[in-house]
Amino acid sequence: AVEGNGSSVCFGSKLPDIKFTKLFINGEFVDALSGKTFETIDPRTGEVIARIAEGDAEDVDLAVKAARDAFDHGPWPRLPGSERRRIMLKFADLVEQNIEELAALDAIDAGKLFSMGKAIDIPFAVNTLQYYAGAADKIHGKTLKMSRELQGYTLREPIGVVGHITPWNYPSNMFFMKASPALAAGCTMVIKPAEQTPLSALYYAHLSKLAGVPDGVINVITGFGPTAGAAISSHMDIDKVSFTGSTEVGRLVMQAAATSNLKPVSLELGGKSPLLIFDDADVDTAADLALLGVFCNKGELCVSSSRVLVQEGIYEELVEKLAKKAKAWVVGDPFDPSSSQGPQVDKNQYDKILSYIEHGKREGATLLTGGKPCGEKGYYIEPTIFTDVMDNMLIAQDEIFGPVMSLMKFKTIDEGIKRANATRYGLAAGIVTKDLNVANTVSRSIRAGIVWINCYIAFDNGCPYGGYKMSGFGREFGMEALDQYLQVKSVYKSLLTRRG
Ligand code: NAD
Repeated sequence: AVEGNGSSVCFGSKLPDIKFTKLFINGEFVDALSGKTFETIDPRTGEVIARIAEGDAEDVDLAVKAARDAFDHGPWPRLPGSERRRIMLKFADLVEQNIEELAALDAIDAGKLFSMGKAIDIPFAVNTLQYYAGAADKIHGKTLKMSRELQGYTLREPIGVVGHITPWNYPSNMFFMKASPALAAGCTMVIKPAEQTPLSALYYAHLSKLAGVPDGVINVITGFGPTAGAAISSHMDIDKVSFTGSTEVGRLVMQAAATSNLKPVSLELGGKSPLLIFDDADVDTAADLALLGVFCNKGELCVSSSRVLVQEGIYEELVEKLAKKAKAWVVGDPFDPSSSQGPQVDKNQYDKILSYIEHGKREGATLLTGGKPCGEKGYYIEPTIFTDVMDNMLIAQDEIFGPVMSLMKFKTIDEGIKRANATRYGLAAGIVTKDLNVANTVSRSIRAGIVWINCYIAFDNGCPYGGYKMSGFGREFGMEALDQYLQVKSVYKSLLTRRG
């Protein structure tokens, strides 16, 4: 555990070798045309892990050419769905076989808990790939009965070359959340992982080749947003962009898509999700869900329940419980099995979170726990809980994307709903109550894409996931995500028959 919670940082066992550092274009690892590289940093120490090829617009161009060629002339879109399924399942097996190394890569690159990566994130990513592998041979159109002497049917065709731009908080899940439905649909793609966490994406590119995904189907361009990312969103030969990241950048991606070739975009953006705890809730369960919702993955969670709204009858008891439980939450090295929380992803994010904490103090919120960095090196921050938070304070409005909870008190159900909805975001919400009528009323009244009742951060590959309002549009997971990589072609046929 990191100092602040008792002992000193315990660094993990064997660290993974870094095998892949170059761009992956047309089935080969290659240097950036400019020859440039950038550093990827270990947030446990602030030290450089490796230098990674820095892709730019000209590298994106090459990757798009490869993907275009693979789409227009290659086997992938033309294979029977069952064959795509076979290759995708093999890809999933290979990921599973390398799970330790992959979880370790995400731990050193993103500061994610190694145990969580191994037990939850990567198994879920494998399951995502398997789920869409199962869909690859079940993509059918409809037969349509028409009013005149016509018969019609629809074809569901892959949309083409897809650009995927992803953030750093769940590197493995982001990769498969985007790539899997696109692969099942028969698309080819250019993936740009976040510059903070390029390592596992390059490893996945390597495994895709071993699995038999044809060259040019998956291309990975590591590099920065304003260069490589912008080159994808504005590219004239990319047919769709799927973006996950901040609302500010989502707006830029949509603008670039609009001013280039009007490609459709799907946007999974930020959030400021409320967790509503009602008087009848079990205090222990409520406190556990609140802690999980905001401190899981060190708060670098788009669905983070960063606004915890508590009904007044249970408020005092809950505050006491939270304070006790937060103190037992261990901040430490991601390889230490006793750690509940690793370091923030990088120095920028660390500074941003600490400045929000200072802002909260200045605005008059009361610090219940945490509020400081911890550890002698690296980007560790104590789990922080503020009470007496007002709706208009910056910490109640902005997405902090760190381990910072804002506690607020409400009286009636209507007040709870109104204040839960008082945000520009609409990604997720949680409700803790034993009363079915309250759960029904609130879940229908919250303007958010996901509502969790008596649970939080529960995900299933079959269940669509995405936001309302400024949290974006489009859905990941479920058949809804597959639809985003398909387009519908309508075919009319004359039914006039020749009589002889
Ligand atoms: P970000 O928006 O800064 O970056 C996301 C990606 O976009 C990165 O790959 C980055 O290089 C790229 N990018 C940056 N500028 C670009 C540009 N001008 N054109 C094209 N691409 C560009 O976000 P981040 O800091 O990596 O991630 C944190 C944000 O992501 C948070 O707001 C969080 O809520 C959001 N997020 C949302 C979800 C979701 O599913 N809704 C999931 C995870 C993270």
